[in-house]
Amino acid sequence: MNGLAGEDVPIRLHRLDSPVTTLGPFSRAVIWVQGCPFNCKGCITRESIDPTGGFEMSVREIADWVIAQEGVEGITLSGGEPMEQSEALALVIDLAKDAKDLGIVCYTGYTLEAIRKAGRKDKLDLVSRTDLLIDGQYIPEKHADLLWRGSSNQRLIHLTDRYRAEVEMLTSEGDRSAGVEVKFDASGKLEFTGVPATPGFRDRMYERACGENLESSNEEAE
Ligand code: SF4
Repeated sequence: MNGLAGEDVPIRLHRLDSPVTTLGPFSRAVIWVQGCPFNCKGCITRESIDPTGGFEMSVREIADWVIAQEGVEGITLSGGEPMEQSEALALVIDLAKDAKDLGIVCYTGYTLEAIRKAGRKDKLDLVSRTDLLIDGQYIPEKHADLLWRGSSNQRLIHLTDRYRAEVEMLTSEGDRSAGVEVKFDASGKLEFTGVPATPGFRDRMYERACGENLESSNEEAE
């Protein structure tokens, strides 16, 4: 589809990566947006909080990147705070799903109840395109070893049935972290992706990378 209003709108991004297997069911294209109003203590993507950081790509460019990813079942939106750029992200989803059947996982620091109570159309439109919402801010005092979440207040909310069976299968023998993917990017930077089971993982990785004289760029989900 070409020429849709809004395709040129810029989205401020923190990072893109694909395929990722630690931030939602199956293999995914992950879009980390830049900018978050919450500033949670212990945030493990703290480089993504500053709304002036990161880089920009247009809605169309991001949709084309998603469409070009081979073998991914869906998109995960993380951050940063996806709800702060919800209108443009909803259009990314529409363009990408126009080309492929893709499921949508969305992280947000807002609770679903707060989004619904506020009644903002842009945020509700993104929620309406989401199959699995992972909601709530990270609370370090509630850190736990959980599937795709960092603290026990965060919930896996099925807004459709798309992932219900897969999530029930994964949690049937215990709700545990999906682990962390560690990669070197093309420039040799060490990157990791996922929600670690234990607090302090990020700092330990940094220390180890520095100790081994590796250049690190540590990025995780919420
Ligand atoms: S943990 Fe999530 S909601 Fe909290 S500051 Fe970090 S990106 Fe924002």
